[in-house]
Order: sequence, then C-alpha cells, then structure tokens
Amino acid sequence: MVSAVNASFVTFALRLIFAFCLLPLALAASSPAAQSSRYDVFAVRFAHVPYGLSSLVAGAERGPQVDIAFTVWPLRDATSGRVVLVDAGFYRQKFIASWKPLDFQRPSEALQKGLGIAPERVTDIIITHSHWDHADGADLFPKATIWIQKEEFDHYIGANGEVLARGGVDADDATMFAGLKAAGRVKLIDGDNKEIIPGIRVYTGGKHTFASQYVGVATTQGTVVIASDNAYLYRNLDEKRAIAQTLDATSNLAAQARMIEIAGSSERVIPGHDPAVFDRFPAVAPGVARIASAAKAP
Ligand SMILES: [Zn+2]
Repeated sequence: MVSAVNASFVTFALRLIFAFCLLPLALAASSPAAQSSRYDVFAVRFAHVPYGLSSLVAGAERGPQVDIAFTVWPLRDATSGRVVLVDAGFYRQKFIASWKPLDFQRPSEALQKGLGIAPERVTDIIITHSHWDHADGADLFPKATIWIQKEEFDHYIGANGEVLARGGVDADDATMFAGLKAAGRVKLIDGDNKEIIPGIRVYTGGKHTFASQYVGVATTQGTVVIASDNAYLYRNLDEKRAIAQTLDATSNLAAQARMIEIAGSSERVIPGHDPAVFDRFPAVAPGVARIASAAKAP
C-alpha cells in the first residue's frame, strides 16, 4: 500500500520525468528538423541499356548482359515545395551516339512528364559523383544549386575546367562544372556525414570515384538511402559484393554495410542502376516509382 506522502512524491517525480525527459521529446517532434522530414522520394528512369554483369558486380561471371536503368531521384519537400534532385542524368548528343540508350528522354523531360516538375522548379542537385551518366544533365536545370564533394571536384576538375585525373569526369562536363562554379551555383561539401539541406545528409567512403557520395533522406517511413553507383544493383547489397568499378573494394563494402545501417533496412537502400527498383516500388507514372511518401503511412 502506498502512503499519501509517497503518492504525492510519486506524482512529483513523474512530473520531473515529464519535464526533463518527455517534454523535450515532445518539443523535438515539432522542431524544424522533424518538420523537414517530409520528403516524397521518387526514382525516375530516363533510359536503359544492356550492360555486362561482370562490370557491375565484383567476381560475377563474364558474359551475361543485364538491363540497367539510368535514373534520377527527385526528393520533394511537401512543406516548402523545395525539389532536390539526386543526380542529373545525361543528355549531350555524344553520349547518346556512343551508348545508344533505349527509350531515352532528357532527365528534365522525364521529370516534367512523370511528375509535372518543370526544370526551373528544381532548387538543388546533389551530384553523387562526376561520371557523365550522373552529372552531365546538371545544366538542364537553370535555377538549381549544385552540391558536390569538394574532394571529388578538386581531384578531377581544374580551375579552368580542365580534366585533372582520368576516369572521373568527361571533358565537356568539366567545362560545364567550371562554368557553373564561376556563376556561383556550385556548393562544395566538406566531407562525410553532413546535413546539407534539412533532412538530407550525405556520406562518403563508397569509393566508386575519388570522393563519391551517397544520400540519406528522412521520410515518414524512415531514412531512405540513395546509394547511386556506390551500389549498382541489389545483388551487390544482398550478396555483399563490391561494385566491379571501385577504387577500393574494402571501403566500398564497408560503405554498403553502413548504408543498410543508416536506412535501418536494406529495403530502403536504393541501388544506382537496378531496374528492379521499378518493380519493388509502386509506379505513379510510366518509369516513375514512389520510394517513400511525405504522407504518413495509414
Ligand atoms: Zn552510373
């Protein structure tokens, strides 16, 4: 039996617990950081092409070709209307001539057609790495701020747009990036685990290129990780196999494990070129999958 004195002490103690533990939690729930975790996350396929499996998955058998998707990932803040694009795809004629992509549309057109997002509505573009199939389309979006790792930029692109190191950036894209930088539209990110936009955090260590990055997005369904080419296919993640094109396979495998940890589940890690993304997630238009919704799940 609890005495009257003890009962009032218990009430007092409970109030203290509320004040010091629960109240801050309640406040945090309505803080700007929590409000910002309201992104719609989509994958938009703008082309596809057959490609050698052994160039995607380390140790895979030589010979088989698999269909790979070329994708951009729009993140739409339901509150502010901010539209952040993860990667920008490609459109220059020379890439179309040499790669002969199937069902090609410009990434800007795919975005407009599939989601009704006009190019000038894209406010930010996060370039995961400077390869042509992810970076070339950056100048299709006239108002976007371009976010890229400083180490990636400085390693591959010179002050006058010259190519400083092989295997990272196409010459025309290096010129484009130098021009965007001169126009004040490039923001260089200083390393790993940085929240560059409320609710959007970037990570390095994937080692697809010198400082390739991947992106964590807060959604009401948990954190979604856009791996881009730091994991090409679900097969990389499921079989714990490094990507075939990496500067450091050990670092790449560690990054893949970290992606799953950040997302809390491999189901919320989105590989860079796997067409199965468009089967696993519901289609909202042809070639457009909804990965997470800003609206709370019922
Ligand atoms: Zn790629």
